[in-house]
Amino acid sequence: MQETIVTASDVALYVKCPRQVYFKLKKVPYVEREERVKGRVEHLLLRNIVEKNFDYRILEKNDFEICISALNELEKFLMNFNTKFFEQALISKKYGLAAKPDLIAVGEENCEVIEFKGTKIRHDITYSDKIYVCAQTMVVEDTLCPGLDHGNVFYYKISNKPIKTVYVSDKLKSKIMEIKSSILSMKKDIECKKDNMPPYCEKSLCKTCDYAYYCLYLNNKTS
Ligand code: SF4
Repeated sequence: MQETIVTASDVALYVKCPRQVYFKLKKVPYVEREERVKGRVEHLLLRNIVEKNFDYRILEKNDFEICISALNELEKFLMNFNTKFFEQALISKKYGLAAKPDLIAVGEENCEVIEFKGTKIRHDITYSDKIYVCAQTMVVEDTLCPGLDHGNVFYYKISNKPIKTVYVSDKLKSKIMEIKSSILSMKKDIECKKDNMPPYCEKSLCKTCDYAYYCLYLNNKTS
């Protein structure tokens, strides 16, 4: 990937914890957590359901934590889209961003970006998901679907209104560009060995972070 391109997933990760992006850029070895592996299996299942019209109604209630009512909503949502791209890698030169949305559904006159998320949100879409989908939508708009002004998150573990729409606003766009610049300067500092490790975030996120062991070790060493 070009030096000046930042991925939409790193932008969203930066919102959650800049230290994770720092470890990633430094290529620190990590231990993949169970939650992440589980999430990948669920994504694969969702892809099979959408791509091959796998009949999800045969699933036992407790096989996966995927809500059948959420799948019904997704089925309705995708009804008029003939072409579907899964994990299509795209690069926007205009924004200097790369994205790989879970699903891009293309119809005769419109197009939808859909990201699958296993988070059990209480009310509204999380800020990092908003940033993530907005960054992805910007890339899809620039490369595939001119004029696209929104993307969607499909929260497959919630039964009530699982599809949330995110509109690309100037505010979100400038935040994404600001984070992109911070990531690029972090990258430059690492290359010049002038880097400063971002602070420990102490959020619930640490429980599921792939770098948790290394990060806590460093933290105990320096505190
Ligand atoms: S353990 Fe917590 S502070 Fe450390 S990188 Fe992970 S999320 Fe960030």
